[in-house]
Amino acid sequence: MTKRDYYEILEVSKGASAEEIKKAYRKKALKYHPDKNPDDKEAEEKFKEAAEAYEVLSNPEKRQRYDQFGHAGVSGAAGGGFGGHDMSMDDIFSMFGDIFGGGFGSGFGGFGGSRSRGGGRRVHRGSDLRVKVTLTLKEIAEGVEKKIKLKKYKSCDSCNGTGAQGGSDYVTCSTCRGSGHVTRVTNTLLGQMQTTAVCPTCHGEGQIIKNKCSACHGEGVVREEEVVSINIPAGVGEGMQLNVSGKGNAGRRGGVNGDLLVVIHEEAHPDLIRDGNNLIYNLFLSMPDFVLGTTAEIPTVDSKVKVKIEEGTQPEKILRLRGKGLPDVNGYGKGDLLVRIHAWTPKKITSEERKMIEKLQQSESFKYTPGKGDKSFFEKMRNMFD
Ligand SMILES: [Zn+2]
Ligand SMILES: [Zn+2]
Repeated sequence: MTKRDYYEILEVSKGASAEEIKKAYRKKALKYHPDKNPDDKEAEEKFKEAAEAYEVLSNPEKRQRYDQFGHAGVSGAAGGGFGGHDMSMDDIFSMFGDIFGGGFGSGFGGFGGSRSRGGGRRVHRGSDLRVKVTLTLKEIAEGVEKKIKLKKYKSCDSCNGTGAQGGSDYVTCSTCRGSGHVTRVTNTLLGQMQTTAVCPTCHGEGQIIKNKCSACHGEGVVREEEVVSINIPAGVGEGMQLNVSGKGNAGRRGGVNGDLLVVIHEEAHPDLIRDGNNLIYNLFLSMPDFVLGTTAEIPTVDSKVKVKIEEGTQPEKILRLRGKGLPDVNGYGKGDLLVRIHAWTPKKITSEERKMIEKLQQSESFKYTPGKGDKSFFEKMRNMFD
């Protein structure tokens, strides 16, 4: 592939000033920034191409060699530094320091609103949006795609997010002469004091819009409704937060998008209690079922299973249904469904029933004496409540 002309890439003339080149690169870097164009190979190529062009044209020595010899003059060893073509993303982001002001690193991480360190130019980042999503246990068990309607700031279509009518009516701010900050000198008893502040005219941008876009009043963003679909993986839990990159509010005037933070709220299940990846079901049986055994129907997340209760089962026994719990959110298998068997006793009985129970009460097998019970069972009980 033959290389494109660096001036062409940045869309500046051969005689462009250093300031014009910087401005042109800033525009390209924002337009093709990977955070704004996730998984877009073409944008990434353009982003790298622009960085390479700027790396050469911003350096007077390299620019001179390029003007004289073309790409050959700045590639390989002769080019020095980045060796021509393959600038790494880290190289590009480290170069951002003098374009956007310090701290404007890879991923745009960690700052909201806009940034202006050391009085440099501002880059706007849209704020993050936070939404709460309520999920049923079934949705959690299977994973689900949720469509959420959001009111948020989106890039203005009329001006392509620039805030300027016609797209390019920016002029250098006369208050700060494009630097984005103003220096005030105050006379105090101790002598002169110098303070630097964000320029009040351009709010640190260094440029002001000549003709503001009427649709967005020069903000570059408009508030609109959007339906965002979010893939929620199986196994998420109450209070977990998913970060959907770039789906938050759009940044003002061609800035980068904030993120959408999705907070999970778990709807209580009528029968099942969640304990990590395990589920608990409390099964109540009455005395005859413990003595004779029975078959119990146990609800699971998506259906029901029949479980055999053995003859002579003791209350508080726990049955473990392997793999009937929830999938692990990190993919480490599935939890179990624990069936806790509790004793239930009727409060009202008929006189006929009373006679039967009285008979049982007197019968030998139904008399409990200490030491007669299952020792290991009592050990288990003790451990359960520790
Ligand atoms: Zn200004
Ligand atoms: Zn607009």
